[in-house]
Amino acid sequence: MPTESVTEYDPSLGRKFVFVTGGVMSGLGKGITAASTGRLLANAGFDVTAVKIDPYLNVDAGTMNPYQHGEVYVLKDGGEVDLDLGNYERFLDIDMTFDHNVTTGKTYKHVIEKERAGDYLGKTVQIIPHITDDIKRRIREAAEGHDVCLVEVGGTVGDIEGMPYLEALRQFAHEEDDDDILFTHVTLVPYSKNGEQKTKPTQHSVKELRSIGLQPDILVGRCGDPLEQQTKEKIALFCDVPTDAVFSNPDVDDIYQVPLVVEDAGLDQYVMEQLGLAEEALPRDERENGWRNLVTQETTGSVDIALAGKYDLEDAYLSVHEALKHAGLEAGVDVNALWVDADEMTAEHRDRLEQADGLVVPGGFGARGTDGKIETVRYAREEGVPFLGLCLGFQVAVIEFARTVCGLEHADSTEFEEETPHPVIAILPEQYEVEDMGGTMRLGAHETDIEPGTLAHELYDSDACTERHRHRYEVNPEYIEQLEDAGITFSGRADNRMEILELDDHPYFVGTQFHPEFRSRPGCASPPFVGLLEAVVDRAEREVSV
Ligand code: GLN
Repeated sequence: MPTESVTEYDPSLGRKFVFVTGGVMSGLGKGITAASTGRLLANAGFDVTAVKIDPYLNVDAGTMNPYQHGEVYVLKDGGEVDLDLGNYERFLDIDMTFDHNVTTGKTYKHVIEKERAGDYLGKTVQIIPHITDDIKRRIREAAEGHDVCLVEVGGTVGDIEGMPYLEALRQFAHEEDDDDILFTHVTLVPYSKNGEQKTKPTQHSVKELRSIGLQPDILVGRCGDPLEQQTKEKIALFCDVPTDAVFSNPDVDDIYQVPLVVEDAGLDQYVMEQLGLAEEALPRDERENGWRNLVTQETTGSVDIALAGKYDLEDAYLSVHEALKHAGLEAGVDVNALWVDADEMTAEHRDRLEQADGLVVPGGFGARGTDGKIETVRYAREEGVPFLGLCLGFQVAVIEFARTVCGLEHADSTEFEEETPHPVIAILPEQYEVEDMGGTMRLGAHETDIEPGTLAHELYDSDACTERHRHRYEVNPEYIEQLEDAGITFSGRADNRMEILELDDHPYFVGTQFHPEFRSRPGCASPPFVGLLEAVVDRAEREVSV
């Protein structure tokens, strides 16, 4: 088997790598465990970044339905990526780029394009070394300039798709200094019927790892409760790690508590010691503790926010849920998100809508659920319920307003009804000739000018904002005057594109063509979300005082 490596690297750069693999089953939250560890390393003064490996053949997540992998997260540079990158951005408070998401599609496409260009002339192009070299190159490039790079391999050890990555990691470890690399394996520790914590699944997945030449340095057991000492000892013995390298990751109410759990268990300290970073770390009392303060602060009450969309899956709107949480932290309230099925709109869902203190219509594609979304907007507008429309939610707000207030019968988006007599939402001019579906929307960060004296200006406290986009349609410029004459204010614009809308005679009615949820962070909540919750709290206080 050819083993030559063409990757050039400079070990003197001193970067450290924490590889995170998963065992037994997916969905154990290894990304959250990794991101939490990263948060703690950042608190200790290190510059931390992350790479997410997705072993699927899609070049990016942009062409996938949210039922497959949850929401498509959008990066500043327009990369459409796995939602785990959103968690890394939120936990580490960093902006990542498309290069931080390595997929099989991207890697193979690149290598095949090079083959066609003749870059490997005379050679047989193979998974080893060409694909594995490309994987290693991508990881090293993403880590450039940072102290620590977390590398999470999606899926579970043993998946056929993941094999080239694990082989690449094996080579990577062989090429770098031992104390620059740490392998962390996150597995499931289930309970037997008689309440015993079972280690066999962990043993099997570690056996699988070792059969491909990888020995984990740290094992993290996901279990309902903390691992018992006896369980840890058993895992240590059979998986050949010290007992103090076995950590628990028990269930918590909220993922933002995981860094606290990880810190209390000493996982961050162990990682720093193993990577030779412990001496450089800030002393404990000088470490950033904003996260702990934020997560443990008292709230003054709770509010119900209904989310009217078409996917009955929290992950499909993950960043919206997170942004609501961040705004809740800022407004001092807990947020209960209520799911409203805009497609079915049964009596139960309509009740939820009416019970909610505030309403959100999130982004989306396609006509399914549009009627329910329009109904939600109308209810919010007519009943004075605080409302936030995001991307498609913004467009639906325009459609509802055009139909009901401007009297434009059957006004619609050409995305849903090509033959509409009033195409108030129409395809972006630059999309006329676009045929490919992957990576071709208006994507990523673009600046919006904000009109002084408007609510949007108050929210952002600025003449401009830069937010992330992902859309193909926009407000049709031919209808702007008519809509504004009837009472909509387009308070944010990017040249002649309408980016923010608001209504004057309403407690809070705001829509954004962009997705503010992607820039929301704990401790730095997104202004339109904070505005929504403040309006909800104000309204509740007014009702109490009446
Ligand atoms: N489907 C709409 C468009 O393409 C909205 C997109 C979205 O909500 N992300 O413009």
